[in-house]
Amino acid sequence: MTTLPIMLYNEQALTPSFGYVFDPKWLDPYESIVSILWKLVRMNRLSGHMVVTQLARESGIDPYVGIAASRSEVDIRRLHQALGLQLKIVRGSFSSSALNNINNPNFRYCRKCLCRGYHGVMHQLEMVTTCPVHECLLEDVCGECGARMPYRINAHLLDAPYRCGSCRKLYASCHPAIANRRPLGRKARTAITRLRFNHCSYF
Ligand SMILES: [Zn+2]
Ligand SMILES: [Zn+2]
Repeated sequence: MTTLPIMLYNEQALTPSFGYVFDPKWLDPYESIVSILWKLVRMNRLSGHMVVTQLARESGIDPYVGIAASRSEVDIRRLHQALGLQLKIVRGSFSSSALNNINNPNFRYCRKCLCRGYHGVMHQLEMVTTCPVHECLLEDVCGECGARMPYRINAHLLDAPYRCGSCRKLYASCHPAIANRRPLGRKARTAITRLRFNHCSYF
């Protein structure tokens, strides 16, 4: 049996010098900020409260209350530097901060998309009620305990990647694949791009 090397992360600094593992190939187009952070947390075994504290523009926030999933409250440059992700991709993981009330206040999802570890910006848009890829109704309630989770970047949400933050049951019926998965099909990619184009003022 081989022993995996233990990597030590500095909990105080979310910087690339400490070797965060993050591959842009894990992402699909317009992946939401929450989905990106879930991948960061899961693949690096980070604690949600540390990530929230490091990414908040303001200091001294309560990580369990967290911050809004908006460009105005998240330190986008820091995330871009820490993960080596293009700024365009980081910016594209939020809906437009200039417009109020365009997002559903609770985490809303498509079960089939969550199976591939995908939650998109469009899944949160209030006027979008079905998944552009699978055409099924979007859900915002946990099928197990009935809880709704506020769509905020906080420790409750980040510590339960692809799971209900209340009962910890997976939202989807399968474990989301992050590192080893097939590229998104052309049809799905086109459906996402078309929706993005039709709602361009919200992105
Ligand atoms: Zn879907
Ligand atoms: Zn639940």
